[in-house]
Amino acid sequence: MDDKTQFLADIQRGKIGGVILWRGKSLINGEPIVAVACKIADANKSANTKTGAMVQTFILPDPKAHGIECAGNRPAKIQDWLERTGARSICGDCPHAWQYDPALDRYKKGSCYVREYQSPAAVLGAVYRESYPVAGVDFPKRWIADIVAGLSVRLGAYGDPAAVPAMLWARLVSKAKSRTGYTHQWDSAHDKARLNAFYMRAFLMASCDSVADYNAATRLGFRAFLVTPRGDASPRENMTLCPASSEFEQLHGRKTNCAKCGLCSGAMGKGENKKSVFIPAHGATASRVGV
Ligand code: SF4
Repeated sequence: MDDKTQFLADIQRGKIGGVILWRGKSLINGEPIVAVACKIADANKSANTKTGAMVQTFILPDPKAHGIECAGNRPAKIQDWLERTGARSICGDCPHAWQYDPALDRYKKGSCYVREYQSPAAVLGAVYRESYPVAGVDFPKRWIADIVAGLSVRLGAYGDPAAVPAMLWARLVSKAKSRTGYTHQWDSAHDKARLNAFYMRAFLMASCDSVADYNAATRLGFRAFLVTPRGDASPRENMTLCPASSEFEQLHGRKTNCAKCGLCSGAMGKGENKKSVFIPAHGATASRVGV
């Protein structure tokens, strides 16, 4: 077995739990960040069983460059970094990101549904321990596409993909079966990230929280992913209700998942020439819409 075949087999069997796809300066604010792919073995199993798992990608701070601590095998201690920086390097000016509190001179958790102390902290701990091979260092960058070939990939399980150069994602999805991805940087005040998001209209949906957002994003050529107020599943022109939503299930008696659906693939891929998508807010997302 040659090196590449062995490497890919080790990933597909879960012997290698993740890979660092890219390491460099955030296109949002220039701070050091990493892009990581993991859950590849789960997605590989699911490709055979059709249960719907996806390769998950995380955009995270480069932990040692930021003084983020990690004890033994435990998840990284990300809380202090979040409170100090508001995760601006990876979330930009997403309205759901951590919000600055002048009274505390710290950032406080916003309306984002991600629990940073769970998967992001666990993946960050592995990055800290140097558990993952690094593209361009431990294996050639040209192998990146083969790592997820034939699998479904989620761009940005945590962090905004637009913080990372578009070329990385273009390479990653080039042989994937399907992908989903979302960005709030389509409307960012950070010029480089906004331009990068614009380049990624082919891969990413514009995350929208209002009809005004939807109108602005679609005028720029994005397909949109609009969160509507809780319970509002009324039909919308040029939009389709997310078929994984409970509202869709109530209407049609069935629902699906992102790996099988893949409609949120940006302007190309499975969603090419398809309508934009909307979903009524649920749980923590219910407070974040301004429609
Ligand atoms: S439309 Fe819904 S189920 Fe389909 S990819 Fe988008 S979020 Fe996932």
